[in-house]
Amino acid sequence: PERATRVRDLIADVPNFPSPGVLFKDITPLLADAEGLADVVEAFTRLALADGVDVVAGMEARGFLLGAPVAHALGLGFLPLRKAGKLPPPTHSVSYDLEYGSAAIELRAGTLTPGARVLIIDDVLATGGTAAAAAELVEKCGGVVSGLAFLIELEALHGRDRLQGHNVDTLLRVD
Ligand code: IMP
Repeated sequence: PERATRVRDLIADVPNFPSPGVLFKDITPLLADAEGLADVVEAFTRLALADGVDVVAGMEARGFLLGAPVAHALGLGFLPLRKAGKLPPPTHSVSYDLEYGSAAIELRAGTLTPGARVLIIDDVLATGGTAAAAAELVEKCGGVVSGLAFLIELEALHGRDRLQGHNVDTLLRVD
């Protein structure tokens, strides 16, 4: 099948996970499939080449699974954007609001070269809260966000609206 169809068919819809009423997009069948994984890495790599990128960053945890192979394919390094408390100090941190409470993401100080163009990768763009925090964190550390790339965009949640002023690319859009 065509690449987009193959990738789409490898993402599972799981109702009522992780909580009632949520339709969870599960990418584990895609990660397990050699062609599917290669398709996604190649698509992200093409975006990076178009945008001009010095380093790739990915959000914990599925952004690591997609971002690190893209960085390697481009011959670039990878920056993990981690949940609070996972990285040893010193770190830079940005907090953001969740539906209930708040969270923070962190980058290890000294790992991002000031002025570097950073491609931020994650699996799903939902409300955009996580991605907006990631972009803010990169900028706080002196980086330039060359773009944000997602495997899946949940269009009904309008996450893209929170990323105005940035290049946003999504491989699959669903309602
Ligand atoms: P947002 O901050 O609301 O845009 O949520 C995005 C974050 O939640 C990303 O890091 C995603 O990995 C995760 N996420 C949200 N919805 C899903 C889903 O349906 N499947 C997998 N991850 C999701």
